[in-house]
Amino acid sequence: DVNITENIDFAGLYLSDSVLSGLKDSGFVRPSPIQLKAIPIGRCGLDLIVQAKSGTGKTCVFSVIALESLALESNSTQVLVLAPTREIALQIQDVLTSIGSAMKGLLCHTFIGGIPLNEDRQKLRKCHIAVGSPGRVKQLIEQKILKTDSIRMFILDEADKLLEDSFQEQINWIYSMLPENKQMLALSATYPEYLAQHLTKYMRNPTFMRLNANDPALLGIKQYFQTVLYHPLPQKVFEEKIKWLVKLFSSVDFHQCLLFSNLQTRAQTLCDILNSKGWPSTCISGSQDQQSRMEAMDKLKKFHCRVLISTDLTSRGIDAERVNLVINLDLPRDHETYLHRIGRAGRYGSYGVAVTFVCEGGEEQQMRAIEAKCGTRIEVLPDPLPTDLA
Ligand code: ADP
Ligand code: MG
Repeated sequence: DVNITENIDFAGLYLSDSVLSGLKDSGFVRPSPIQLKAIPIGRCGLDLIVQAKSGTGKTCVFSVIALESLALESNSTQVLVLAPTREIALQIQDVLTSIGSAMKGLLCHTFIGGIPLNEDRQKLRKCHIAVGSPGRVKQLIEQKILKTDSIRMFILDEADKLLEDSFQEQINWIYSMLPENKQMLALSATYPEYLAQHLTKYMRNPTFMRLNANDPALLGIKQYFQTVLYHPLPQKVFEEKIKWLVKLFSSVDFHQCLLFSNLQTRAQTLCDILNSKGWPSTCISGSQDQQSRMEAMDKLKKFHCRVLISTDLTSRGIDAERVNLVINLDLPRDHETYLHRIGRAGRYGSYGVAVTFVCEGGEEQQMRAIEAKCGTRIEVLPDPLPTDLA
């Protein structure tokens, strides 16, 4: 369903032998449509703005372009990749290391908050590709631990998120510290129009690459909603949602579920309830220390939990292949967030289901607005519930 192009394999993109062998060892045989389109253009050195749906392989797009650009005989940092969360940064490093596994001497490291600066200093003695979150990267440049004079490529994953108010200042500052002559790549599944405009200011006559721009929703994902009784006390609404949640989990045969809650404070309560009912669950939020956050992601990826409860911290970028159910316990704040959240299921053309809980009344209208902006259909959750998600 991801429209894998039947006849062309990665060898048809004229990549180096080492990258080809790394792709093969990573299990990538044929490029996805966005990889087929964007990799050749990126390798020509052009600035690129890539928009392609969740789960279509954007990480591999910039990883290949970055790896092919390196001069490994130098120890200096030549590529800087920024991502909005620490979890995405770590995941990117895994992909780079895997695709670059046959490149002798390749070093790429992750620089994120919550890890001692001294470790970073050590890693930066030799580091071809630096992947990081904006806060830590800014700090490292400020303290002259990360030297920018050899950086020739600047990559923004989840670019629209990185240009939002909360990051804007840091990104501007980092950008101002980079050499003028560099290639820029920006990738995301969504770009609100004003941000796309803004992004072009950083770039040199960028090429826009939009795949399925008119159909941003995911083919493989069935979208449902469940109306929940309104009550003036939020706690009552929460209890009602839990009732539905338990019913859903009891009847639907899912592999793994990502459960989004707008409120961090409820995550632990939810987690305890689900665990007590026999669904191994864990929760992750920005208020946990880095060690706990990494453990939670590990549990998800190694299938040591069935349910990960999260705030929007994991609504973007996270790739866990067994997730086939996404639940919005609360309505996401906008249609972009909705698309990113439900995109956690249905990775690389697989199937999944998304269920959104809406409170009677105003929230139903909000959901209809999201539906309209996404150009998709969100249907009433059938009763009895579907048992098979495949
Ligand atoms: P995106 O960033 O577009 O949401 P990711 O880069 O996280 O998507 O990739 C989604 C999944 O698809 C990952 O599990 C990745 O390993 C897989 N994938 C990407 N490209 C290929 C390919 N060419 N062949 C097979 N699997 C791929
Ligand atoms: Mg991604």
